[in-house]
Amino acid sequence: MESREKSQGSTSNYAMGEAIALAKIEFQADKLVIAYVMQLRGIKDYGISRQKWNRLLKKTHNGNDRQWLQEIQKGLDEESSAAEKLKETIEQKWSQNEKSVLTWLRQLTKVDFRIPKVRVCIVPFAAGQVPFKDLPLVVVGKIRQGWGYPETIAHELAHILFNQNFQLEDEVKHPYIQLIEEEIAVRLGARSKYFDYLIPDFAD
Ligand SMILES: [Zn+2]
Repeated sequence: MESREKSQGSTSNYAMGEAIALAKIEFQADKLVIAYVMQLRGIKDYGISRQKWNRLLKKTHNGNDRQWLQEIQKGLDEESSAAEKLKETIEQKWSQNEKSVLTWLRQLTKVDFRIPKVRVCIVPFAAGQVPFKDLPLVVVGKIRQGWGYPETIAHELAHILFNQNFQLEDEVKHPYIQLIEEEIAVRLGARSKYFDYLIPDFAD
């Protein structure tokens, strides 16, 4: 009996409405992230390895990497301005729901962001992912009709919360993350019930 109580004890019991600082979600249209997604999608091959992308996006690059950075910054003006435009739409939709979504994420997962700042980088392509487990970075782009940005971003933020707090295999954690997205979508009024859509799940 005693051990059961102990195992149930939680150090992170958050009450709704409690005055607590929420994570800072920063929206950006970053050429480097756009280039990363372009290579991932086979749109343009920069010949950069996954390890090097990780370094570049983490900003822990060395002198040799600087050349790549300059190369990328020189181009992609069109893609960058398309991303800026999309960023305005997404950021506006997010800001209307940010406080609720962040509070619900904490309430549902009982954990916090270890690094209280998350970058949400907008790309002008179809995208929704967390590229690296050790990086608090979300990539969001165009989403399918019928999907909403607040629950899509909530899904990706849940990935970051899980990466930072739990040691789970992708196959194990993804069903939980999907359920968190469903719950948030229902609370937002975006879906009438869990999995209330016909289009296949493309989120990763
Ligand atoms: Zn996912």
